[in-house]
Amino acid sequence: MDFHNDEVIARMLHYRTGSLTPGQPIPPPLSMTSIYHLPGAPSGDHQYGRWSNPTWDALEGALSVLEEAEVAIFPSGMAAIAAVFMAHLKSGDRLLLPDDGYYTTRAVAEKYLQPHGIQVEQCSTPDFDRIDLSGIRLVFVETPSNPTLEICDLAALSRRAKAAGALVVVDNTTMTPLGQRPLNLGADIVVTADTKAMNGHSDVLLGHVASRDNQLLAPIRDWRKFVGAIPGPFEAWLVHRGLETLEVRYERMCTTAGLLAERLAGHPAIRSVTYPGLAGHPGHEIARRQMTRFGTILGVTLADAGSADRLIEASRLIVPATSFGGTHTSAERRARWGDKVPEGYIRLSVGCEPTEALWKDLSRALDTLK
Ligand SMILES: *Cc1c(COP(=O)(O)O)cnc(C)c1O
Repeated sequence: MDFHNDEVIARMLHYRTGSLTPGQPIPPPLSMTSIYHLPGAPSGDHQYGRWSNPTWDALEGALSVLEEAEVAIFPSGMAAIAAVFMAHLKSGDRLLLPDDGYYTTRAVAEKYLQPHGIQVEQCSTPDFDRIDLSGIRLVFVETPSNPTLEICDLAALSRRAKAAGALVVVDNTTMTPLGQRPLNLGADIVVTADTKAMNGHSDVLLGHVASRDNQLLAPIRDWRKFVGAIPGPFEAWLVHRGLETLEVRYERMCTTAGLLAERLAGHPAIRSVTYPGLAGHPGHEIARRQMTRFGTILGVTLADAGSADRLIEASRLIVPATSFGGTHTSAERRARWGDKVPEGYIRLSVGCEPTEALWKDLSRALDTLK
């Protein structure tokens, strides 16, 4: 395991315990409140529930140790992404997005930014390594992209963007900071849907923005405060609890994903396996340089839609669901949403089940396709 990550995780787990006084609870209290005691001239850490909350502070504190950056939390991954756009784009700006990344980010840009005079441009994730960035205000990228797991070189992209005067925003949802640290590679801002592996229990939506530049984060916090795109205290509390097991879950999930990728790649019922850890992945060399783990998601292509649907049905341990990063292994055929992928392409999100139990189930399900 990565020594740096070990240190960071240990610090995150003890972030709160270091400042406790006798009698205080070890986990953070859940502060369900909209108001605070506020006599006389307004003062004190908390004044109104749309502006701040002690349970948000607990989660933001833990996340900022993990990200090694300042953090603002939001009620979903999309709320975090929208806050970055609203705080840093104005009429006349050019925004560059991946055409093969998370669909809703493109939809937000086209439906709500374009009509306000922001020019929305797109290219494939690998093309971020080649495209001319001059005149671009904000480069938004996902690597590996969801759902096709395409990769681009974050350090090189950040250098080129800096030279062009563009901000680099990385959606790190597929990796978490344990698998990849875009801020260390030169990105200005990271956004993450904590809905996925960060919370990891498929029971909450939440997102966060991280940056080491407070001038970039301050207007994002203001957007939250004024517009009210705020997380519920209970959701923040649940994600704080989820984070406590992140390293254990992520370690198991990545290890299993790597083993399944190798075994599935050699299976006669399978056309191809897409996983950044496989030597045949076109982005494998970049992945080795910029990622500490190869992630928890596999693209598995079967001959056709029928075989893919039958595989998911025949498995006892794979739940049919959209989303990823939870304790339960889940899968879906992405063409059902109209993604530009083969009809038989399954996005397989590897969960926390014991590795060999999962492999046994999967190989039995594959046998039913014969
Ligand atoms: C899920 C996801 C989001 C959006 O997160 P929500 O919490 O569902 O709003 C954004 N980016 C990526 C890459 C995702 O997978």
